[in-house]
Amino acid sequence: MTIPLNSNGHRRRQLRARVLAEQTHCALCGQRVDKTLKTEPGKHYKKCTNTNCQGCLPHPMRPEVDEDIPRAKGGSPLQRDNCNLMHRTCNQRKGTMTLAEARKQHAETATQATAQRTPVKASPIW
Ligand SMILES: [Zn+2]
Ligand SMILES: [Zn+2]
Repeated sequence: MTIPLNSNGHRRRQLRARVLAEQTHCALCGQRVDKTLKTEPGKHYKKCTNTNCQGCLPHPMRPEVDEDIPRAKGGSPLQRDNCNLMHRTCNQRKGTMTLAEARKQHAETATQATAQRTPVKASPIW
């Protein structure tokens, strides 16, 4: 069964609004998402000619609603439990991975970064 994408526009918008209202933290990095962010100050589309424009490129930390299992992998964009709040930049990093895959990768990069910053010392307790 194929559902035409357009017919679901309204339900998709409602679901996005619900996710935005219910969730406060990014599903990938766990940091709080500032829902007031929209555009990045001082960053413009090449075609922007408005001299009063404060910035029109999307802010990398603005909230986005992501599908855990991407549509390409059979996930539903209309199921509440398949949708999560995420930073735009985290959402882009996630790409077509599932949330579990993206979290695993995020944890690995975080561990590597910490290992580089703090040299491993023998703990006096253990
Ligand atoms: Zn994030
Ligand atoms: Zn602009």
